[in-house]
Amino acid sequence: MSLLNAQGIEKTFRNGDEETRVLKGIDMTLEAGELVALLGQSGSGKSTLLSIVGLLLRPTNGQLEINGERVDNLSERRRAHFRNEKLGFVFQFHHLLPDFTALENVAFPAAAPAGGISRKMRDRAAELLTRVGLEERIDFPATRLSGGQKQRVAIARALMNAPDLIIADEPTGNLDRESADTVLELMREVNRETGATFLICTHDPGVAERCTRRLTLADGVLESDDRGGAQRGE
Ligand code: ADP
Ligand code: MG
Repeated sequence: MSLLNAQGIEKTFRNGDEETRVLKGIDMTLEAGELVALLGQSGSGKSTLLSIVGLLLRPTNGQLEINGERVDNLSERRRAHFRNEKLGFVFQFHHLLPDFTALENVAFPAAAPAGGISRKMRDRAAELLTRVGLEERIDFPATRLSGGQKQRVAIARALMNAPDLIIADEPTGNLDRESADTVLELMREVNRETGATFLICTHDPGVAERCTRRLTLADGVLESDDRGGAQRGE
């Protein structure tokens, strides 16, 4: 069974009389443990596709299964639950809560639905922050971290609920070369260690070539699927 199976995904945005047909029938299967780069020109629909896969946006047409469960037609409540339990998100801009510490930000995906932060959540968040090399910054306010450090906190946060699929939209787009390398290396290590599947939208050829697979979006369809290059366990 595949981790993700998308069939005939279409998305058309409507604003008044204006229609923008962005996705025109995407068929995509991701196997568990893949580290996949999603490429394509600006405006090709990468973020739209990630939002659909991340259950943040509904497709106009098509079917989506994650872990064998049909998810495109879930109720709002069940979508939110599925998103929180099974998916992790990393965006170009970290979206950390500025008044929270690094640890509180990481624990948030578990603490928010529970209505508070437990000892177990604190331990898990501290462990994840140590994993991303920020053990010295656990109690720092988010505002006092560098750009690369914030993005590492965002990765730790994405891992908090041990998701099956991590969706990253231009995660290195706002970083200098060195921080970008650190962040990508971290995602590669987490992928190898935990077997979590990654779908990473990127403009950066350096990121794409270190993924195990590259999908390219053009004219609303997937134009190429390249599994050469870097391999897991390399
Ligand atoms: P990418 O991430 O590849 O740069 P996007 O998925 O952000 O592309 O956008 C693809 C196209 O869809 C663009 O032409 C964009 O303007 C359009 N689009 C995205 N979101 C909306 C929206 N909510 N309403 C109308 N058009 C949108
Ligand atoms: Mg985008």
